[in-house]
Amino acid sequence: YITSLENLRDTEVRTADGVDVYLYSNVELNDEIHLSNLNNASGVGLYRTEYIYLQHGDVSEEQQFQILKEAVELNGGKPTTIRTFDLGGEKLSEEMPHPKEQNPVMGLRAVRYSLRFREFFIRQLRAILRASVYGEIKIMFPMISGLHEYRKVREVYESAKKSLRAEGVPFAENIKLGIMVELPSIAIISGLIAREVDFMSVGTNDLIQYTLGIDRNNEYVAYLYKPAHPAILTLLNTIITAARKEGIDCSVCGEIAGEPRYIPILLGLGYRQLSMSPAHILRAKKLIKQLKAHDCEHLVADLMKCDTSILAEEKVTSFVERQG
Ligand code: PEP
Ligand code: MG
Repeated sequence: YITSLENLRDTEVRTADGVDVYLYSNVELNDEIHLSNLNNASGVGLYRTEYIYLQHGDVSEEQQFQILKEAVELNGGKPTTIRTFDLGGEKLSEEMPHPKEQNPVMGLRAVRYSLRFREFFIRQLRAILRASVYGEIKIMFPMISGLHEYRKVREVYESAKKSLRAEGVPFAENIKLGIMVELPSIAIISGLIAREVDFMSVGTNDLIQYTLGIDRNNEYVAYLYKPAHPAILTLLNTIITAARKEGIDCSVCGEIAGEPRYIPILLGLGYRQLSMSPAHILRAKKLIKQLKAHDCEHLVADLMKCDTSILAEEKVTSFVERQG
């Protein structure tokens, strides 16, 4: 099995009926970029910068710059999508100034945290901008809940650029800016925000958690965590439809993007960019080469008629079994 996967290292990724699909890596540490390259990913689709903080504590701009520069260089000519700190929620560090919260997952996390501690956010943005001289960088903002919040984030981004310009520090001028679609609010109005961003990436881990009201790490309610739930499929469909209408890139970077069970659904909905743990890339390539996009579209049409997640998940199971 391993040997047959090894043969997939160099191949392009195309379905059996000729649809191109692009696979990217989710990384937390620079070391993982080696595996991403070995498995010939199209680049890094999600670089979780909060792990820099969780690992090294309250890092300086210079330290962040050095780490990100190395990441970009390791990635060669391929794009690196850097997500700004998704701190707070379950990703808390002792070193973070943080209030006690009753509901941290719905509290001061991700861009909410960054916007509250503006200097901290600017320091990170400056480090990212400086690294952009060494290869293609895209910047992505986590947990955006509405247009106003995204515009505030852009204002801070513009200030970070201005401060570098004033100091004569170089950075790439046309960096693409995008958002994580991981809150139901932004998924529902993805048609509006798609006009203002360069790209979107669907964070299904959180999107499912917040839409179904199920803690993604709670074993007692794990039985309700159903990616094929009609509400989730409706949102995934809304998002990709909005992206296509505006002609912007839209990937999926939640866990389901690398799960053989759910890849057919994503392809059937029209997603063509999947970002996953680099360890799952060869497995995904193997599957995609066997699938027909046409069959995946039929599966999705079938799923759209299901009124419960139970029925939908059964249909997914029988589709997977039919594929052998
Ligand atoms: C997600 O929410 O799907 C996601 C990719 O982000 P994280 O898992 O880091 O919250
Ligand atoms: Mg998330």
